Amino acid sequence: MNFSFEVAKTDPAGARRGRLSTPHGTVETPFFMPVGTQASVKALTQEALEELGAEIILANTYHLYLRPGHELVRKLGGLHRFMSWPRAILMDSGGYQVFSLSELRKITDEGVRFRSHLDGSEHLLTPEKAAEIQLGLGSDIAMVLDECIETPAPRDKAEVALKRTTEWAKRARIHFQECARRNGNLSQWQFGIVQGATFADLRRESARQLLDLDFPGYAVGGLAVGEPHETTCEMTAEVTALLPKDRPRYLMGVGRPEQLADYVGLGIDMMDCVLPTRAARHACLYTSEGRVLIKNARYAQDQRPIDPKCTCSVCGRYSRGDSRHSPQRPLLP
Ligand SMILES: [Zn+2]
Repeated sequence: MNFSFEVAKTDPAGARRGRLSTPHGTVETPFFMPVGTQASVKALTQEALEELGAEIILANTYHLYLRPGHELVRKLGGLHRFMSWPRAILMDSGGYQVFSLSELRKITDEGVRFRSHLDGSEHLLTPEKAAEIQLGLGSDIAMVLDECIETPAPRDKAEVALKRTTEWAKRARIHFQECARRNGNLSQWQFGIVQGATFADLRRESARQLLDLDFPGYAVGGLAVGEPHETTCEMTAEVTALLPKDRPRYLMGVGRPEQLADYVGLGIDMMDCVLPTRAARHACLYTSEGRVLIKNARYAQDQRPIDPKCTCSVCGRYSRGDSRHSPQRPLLP
């Protein structure tokens, strides 16, 4: 099966219902992607993910690139086999982790030079190299390398990062298309990433520049990193207003469960976040009734399911009292 995206229905206010087809299955949109850091989603088995109905997951390029390395993953039969995940996979560019995890990072127009947080070895991540790693790993969707800056960012810094992000996107797109010309149809889609921090005009400028590069899908990056939720929504709306209606839109790194509907309302089709799995590892469970801090003494003898409205096997099997005593267990049915 090849790639396609179709919007089946659009709410007058902007929300969309659609379908993204990939060589590894169809994904109903809008969707939320669980995040697999080192080739697996922490505290969850692949079987549990399938049972929960995940049709696509996000894998981090940075971790796989450093260990075991994209060449080895390719030799072992590619990312889907390596992760034992037959459904769709989206890979980030590795940029975000390089900016946040690695030591001694130095950004130039060429790319990002950094030291591995594992062994201190030195690496240079360029837009071309990021595309090659993602192609080598074989994800269904690949993200271009962009410059992630800390927020709140001053305007001059945001302008520099925006300019560089566009230049890098151009290089990544050209390189990707050259690979396609050389190797025939690539079984991968490459997405551009709109930057511009919290400046509406920069967000619009970034989106317009990326539209010229004709990506099959567009992401909004650099949001939900500490700014108020209203600002996240405002910036997202600026961008989605300009993006083509027939292409998927991905808001990166969001968000709290109650906020997801707001983003969908702004015309977002795809989202991802480590929040639900990270919070669960710290005994904070998101339910239809709000957050349940399961270590709280009031749940010691609580026989109710974690989420009374949920039909999953965990809620069917374990009570809040059970989960309180071994908070990791319910995540591994
Ligand atoms: Zn459940």
